[in-house]
Amino acid sequence: MKSVLTRSPVAIAIAWIGLYLAITLFPLFVLLLYGAPTGSTFWVDFSVALGFVGLAMLALQFALTARINLIESSYGIDIILQFHRYISLIAFALVIIHPLILFITKPETLGLLNIIEAPWRAKLAVSSVLALIILIVTAIGRKKLNIPYEPWRIAHGVLAVLAVAFGLGHALGVSNYLGLFWKGVLWSAIALFALWLLVYVRLVKPWMMTRHPYLVEEVIPQRNKVWTLVLRPRGHQGMHFQPGQFAWITLAISPFRMREHPFSMSSSADNPERLEFSIKEVGDFTSTIQDVQPGTKAFLDGPYGVFTIDRYWDSAGFILIAGGIGITPMMSMLVTAADRQDDRSFILIYANKTWEDITFREELEELKQRLDLSVIHVLREPPEDWSGETGYVDRELLERYIPIHRGSRQYFICAAPVMMDAVEIALHELDVPITHVHIEHFNIV
Ligand SMILES: Cc1cc2nc3c(=O)[nH]c(=O)nc-3n(C[C@H](O)[C@H](O)[C@H](O)COP(=O)(O)OP(=O)(O)OC[C@H]3O[C@@H](n4cnc5c(N)ncnc54)[C@H](O)[C@@H]3O)c2cc1C
Repeated sequence: MKSVLTRSPVAIAIAWIGLYLAITLFPLFVLLLYGAPTGSTFWVDFSVALGFVGLAMLALQFALTARINLIESSYGIDIILQFHRYISLIAFALVIIHPLILFITKPETLGLLNIIEAPWRAKLAVSSVLALIILIVTAIGRKKLNIPYEPWRIAHGVLAVLAVAFGLGHALGVSNYLGLFWKGVLWSAIALFALWLLVYVRLVKPWMMTRHPYLVEEVIPQRNKVWTLVLRPRGHQGMHFQPGQFAWITLAISPFRMREHPFSMSSSADNPERLEFSIKEVGDFTSTIQDVQPGTKAFLDGPYGVFTIDRYWDSAGFILIAGGIGITPMMSMLVTAADRQDDRSFILIYANKTWEDITFREELEELKQRLDLSVIHVLREPPEDWSGETGYVDRELLERYIPIHRGSRQYFICAAPVMMDAVEIALHELDVPITHVHIEHFNIV
C-alpha cells in the first residue's frame, strides 16, 4: 500500500478535509450512538447538535493556525487562513443558533440569560459567546479600528482560548446529553487536543527554533527601501526549502516572545547555508532592518508555502508576474533555476512605479545570461525616453507575452492585492486554466 506521503497532493488535501469533517462531526456520532435523553424534542436535539458541532469547529481552529507543516504543505497558508476565517463565522453562527432555537421552542430558557442568577453552565456559555463576538469584531475590523498587528495577535489568541475553554466548560456542565462518562471522555479529549496545540505553538515550536539559531551575516541595501538580510545557520546545516517558500523570522529576541514576521526567501534554494530575505520598509519591524548589526541572532520557523516552481517539474516553463516587493519569491525561483541550469523558459512581468524603484534590476539583467529569461518591466511613471511597457498589467499586456498554448506554462503572481486580483481575472479571460495560476498574498492578516 502507498504511504500517505507518496500519494498525490490532491489525495492528501482531500484526506485532510475528510479528517476535519470526521472530527467536527464526531460529537454527533457519539450523540447518535448514545441517544438523546427521553422526553427531549426534535428542536432541542437539533439545537444541542449545532452547539456540539460549533464548539468542535472552534476547538479545531487551533489546529488550523498552529502552522502544522503537513497540513500547510497541502494547501498553502492563504487558503488555510481563508478557511479559518470562514469557518469561524460558520462556527459562530452555529453557536448562536443553538440557544436561539431553545429560546424560541422553550421560552422559559430565556431566564438563563440572567447572568446573575443563571447557573454556571449558562454563565460560561454567555462568556464564551461574548469572547467570540469581541474576537470576530476585532479580527474583521482590525485595520478600521486601528489596532496594531502585534497586540491584536496576542489578544486574538487569549480570546480564542477563553471562548473555547468557556464553551467546553458549558458543554461539560450541561448534564442531559451524553451520559456523564461519554461526555467527560469526549470533551476532555477535545480540550486536551486544543491544550496540546497551544503548548506546541507556545513552547515546543519556539524551543525547537532555539536549537537551530542563525546569525546575521550582513544587511545589503537594495533599490526602493528594500534591505536584504543575510543569515547563516549556526551549528546546523540551515533550512532546506523550495524556491518561492517563506519563513517566519524572529530577530534579536527569544522565539518564546512570539514576535515574528513572515518573509519569502529571495536566495537560491540550493544554498541553505546562506539564506537571504529581502525586506521592504513598511512599518515598525521592517524599518529596523537597515540598522541590524552583523552577528545578531535570528530564529526561523519554516519553510512554509506552496508557491513554488518545484511542484511543477513537468511544466514547459513559467510566467512570473510581480509587483514591487512581490519580486522576492520570484527572485528565489530564478536564482535557483540558474543554479540548477534549468533550461526551461521563464518570463518575468515586473511592475513598478519608476525605473529607479526596480528592486533587483541589475541582478535580473545578470540572470538573463544564465537562464532562458525574458524580463518585461512595466512602469507606471516611466522616464521620457522609455520605450517599454507602461501603466498597469492588464489583459492586453498579458496577451502580448504569454504563449498561445496557455496551459503549457505555470503562472505565479505576487503583488499588491489590487494588482493580483486584476491579473487573476485577466488570465482567466485569456483562458489560462485556473489550476495553473498560483498566488502569494503578503498581507494575509
Ligand atoms: C507569505 C508572506 C511572505 C512575505 N514576504 C515578504 C518579503 O519577502 N519581503 C517583504 O518585504 N515583505 C514580505 N511579507 C510582508 C511582511 O511580512 C510584512 O510587510 C511585515 O510583517 C510588516 O511588519 P511591520 O511591523 O514592519 O509593519 P506593520 O506596519 O506593523 O504591519 C503592516 C502590515 O503587515 C502585516 N503584518 C505585520 N506584522 C505581521 C506579522 N507578524 N505577521 C504577519 N503579518 C504581519 C499586517 O497586515 C500589517 O497590517 C510577506 C508576508 C507574507 C504573509
